[in-house]
Amino acid sequence: MLNPDYENMQYRRVGRSGLKLPSVSLGLWHNFGYEANYENCRKMVLGAFDMGITHFDLANNYGPPPGSAESCFGRILKEELYAHRDELIISTKSGYLMWPGPYGEWGSRKQMLASLDQSLKRMGLDYVDIFYHHRPDPETPIEESMGALYTAVHSGKALYVGISNYDAKQTEEAIKVLKQMGLHLLIHQPRYNIFDRRPEAGLYDLLQKEGVGAIPYSPLDQGILTDRYLNGIPADSRAGGKSVFLKPEKLTDELMEKVRKLNDLALSRGQKLSQMALSWLLSKPTTSSVLIGASKLSQIEDAVKAQDNTSFTQEELNIINSLSV
Ligand code: NDP
Repeated sequence: MLNPDYENMQYRRVGRSGLKLPSVSLGLWHNFGYEANYENCRKMVLGAFDMGITHFDLANNYGPPPGSAESCFGRILKEELYAHRDELIISTKSGYLMWPGPYGEWGSRKQMLASLDQSLKRMGLDYVDIFYHHRPDPETPIEESMGALYTAVHSGKALYVGISNYDAKQTEEAIKVLKQMGLHLLIHQPRYNIFDRRPEAGLYDLLQKEGVGAIPYSPLDQGILTDRYLNGIPADSRAGGKSVFLKPEKLTDELMEKVRKLNDLALSRGQKLSQMALSWLLSKPTTSSVLIGASKLSQIEDAVKAQDNTSFTQEELNIINSLSV
């Protein structure tokens, strides 16, 4: 029996909107496709929901193979979670390569709306809660990509809209174009963590000013900002496996030295490094939720504790800043 812990999970308002998200959300990019163990996927999704994690983030291309994370999630929904549909915030995205030919990626109206229909079908849903444009398209007029988001909402296939991987200038333009259509940009999904500070170059300030929420992805830098790699590269880890997104070469001695120092700092705060990395993002008011990935339920349990210790002394912040890469 599913019994979400709504008492202990903290829910944070997403910018100037009516929507709240759990402090920790679960992304299904890795470990949820057909190549993953279905029983483990099921255990993580249902276990997360039981902890009060109401938000699950997907995209058309998550797998491998592309599309299979949505299909697996659709199966869990159908078999066990669908009775809770109104308690869930489910997001998907389009923009990265999904099918051959000129309409299978980027940001045309044709690509985005066809992709959304495919995603709904794979998940067995009538609508998603948030539909994102996954990356800016340098060739398509932004009015067309934002127009596709508008159509998604006005055809009842999405409740809210978001963008991801847009820089500050592109985001400002997207907000303006959506506003002209009478639509508020709910949320931005940037890559942001202790090591990757790009959103600090204007994006986070802009989101705060415009009342747009932020849900940083790869908040643990794909697992580097945890104790996972302190004693080498475990065979069952992302860097030790087949992921093309995190190769062992990334884990240089210089980087691991910084990770070790951050780990010491986390321990001095009574936290694990993974928890401190999430607490640091949650300490920023613009952050609506942190979007983690996981390969086991225990990692999600760890993450949720990050919400309980989000204050940092100036001295701690100085150490973190000095170790940023
Ligand atoms: P994280 O930075 O949270 O990395 C997750 C990985 O870190 C896990 O799979 C696990 O790897 C390891 N890990 C997590 N918790 C712990 C822990 N407590 N101790 C040790 N290791 C831990 O995020 P992701 O890079 O996975 O991205 C999260 C989500 O963000 C995605 O699922 C997706 O929804 C979204 N995303 C969006 C993108 C976009 O362009 N919009 C791009 C990328 C992601 P291991 O396998 O080694 O156990």
